[in-house]
Amino acid sequence: MIPFSPPRIDDKIIAEVIDTLRSGWITTGPKTKLFEKKITNYCSGKSTIAVNSATAGLELVLRWYGVGEGDEVIVPAYTYCATANVVVHCGAKPVMVDIKPDDFCISVSEIEKHITARTKVIIPVDIAGMPCNYNEINALVNRPEIKALFKPNNSIQQKLERILVLSDAAHSFGAWYHGKRTGSLCDITVFSFHAIKNLTTAEGGAIVLNLPDHFDHDELYRYFSIMVLHGQSKDALAKLQKGAWRYDVIDAGYKANMTDILASIGLVEIDRYDNDTLKKRKYIFDRYQKAFASYPWAELPVYETTDKTSSYHVYLLRIKNITEKQRDLIIQKIFDKDVSVNVHFQPLPLLTAYKNRGYKISDYPIAYDNYAREISLPVFYDLTDDMINQVIEAVVASVEEVIYA
Ligand SMILES: *Cc1c(COP(=O)(O)O)cnc(C)c1O
Repeated sequence: MIPFSPPRIDDKIIAEVIDTLRSGWITTGPKTKLFEKKITNYCSGKSTIAVNSATAGLELVLRWYGVGEGDEVIVPAYTYCATANVVVHCGAKPVMVDIKPDDFCISVSEIEKHITARTKVIIPVDIAGMPCNYNEINALVNRPEIKALFKPNNSIQQKLERILVLSDAAHSFGAWYHGKRTGSLCDITVFSFHAIKNLTTAEGGAIVLNLPDHFDHDELYRYFSIMVLHGQSKDALAKLQKGAWRYDVIDAGYKANMTDILASIGLVEIDRYDNDTLKKRKYIFDRYQKAFASYPWAELPVYETTDKTSSYHVYLLRIKNITEKQRDLIIQKIFDKDVSVNVHFQPLPLLTAYKNRGYKISDYPIAYDNYAREISLPVFYDLTDDMINQVIEAVVASVEEVIYA
């Protein structure tokens, strides 16, 4: 069975983890701090806080911005549930909008239609690794009539004087947009290092700050580093200094810190990310693209344009003119040929939690159509040429068994 996306665990990773274990320092410490610096440098952000998941990172940012009851946060209907769940956790309302048919990213004209005086944050999601249209989104939140609608209700919101743009870049570490990497495309970007993501630490994430320059990014770094650790004014490493046992708790913080065991995996991964990981992923994408280009039923994903280069996270193949049922049957037949595939994603209004909150899939026709015809193919470092051929053969045979039946 060809798996969908196993992590790359090789001797280098194992040696680095063992080094951490032997060092005696297993929780947040020097390796986490080094990993944060490498992420900041890699994506040219202003400051980075490592966390234990992207979900925790997104929620911490929403709470820092004071998002709560009565507020609205605009999210795409087409994403993983975490994007909207964190809004619900804060007591605010996720306002879902439809996506674009070409690259699955949030539609900026739909965002504009859904902005109200209650809108505090927009969370674009770089689906499959393709960056959203950040220039347009940043321009939109800075438009005078949109800024005039914004009603700040705390000092941080007053300082920004507009809607915050918070990127869910769980898929897009290393992607490019107009010559810049994700992490420096909007106010704040959150990455995921979950096991299935391009760059993994098993579980983990990072908040990359890139707010306007009148925000003090050193102070924000200190604030978030404290809030990911109970609100405690000194972390375990600082308390280790001779006699420095006393600490304060400045606010009721969270428990969302990254550990050095996990950061050590990330340190190996980030050093080989561009020249090894991304190269291999692009190679697999290009092999699939070339193979499926000759079939009239294949709608090929867009992953490189003049403005954007994807991080090659998920290969989103669509089949033309099929129903959701036919797609499900094709997937069944692909699995029968010992190839694992997936669907990214079920739009949120299809899920019970959001159906129960009154969202209707009929309001998101493009999200539904993209979902109903989509099949995600295996992409991972150890995928061999023979396996790629087996995937292509299984997909072609399964699609043709169903559509020419
Ligand atoms: C994986 C994922 C997340 C959540 O990441 P975690 O690190 O597991 O919290 C959020 N958004 C999207 C789009 C994802 O795919």
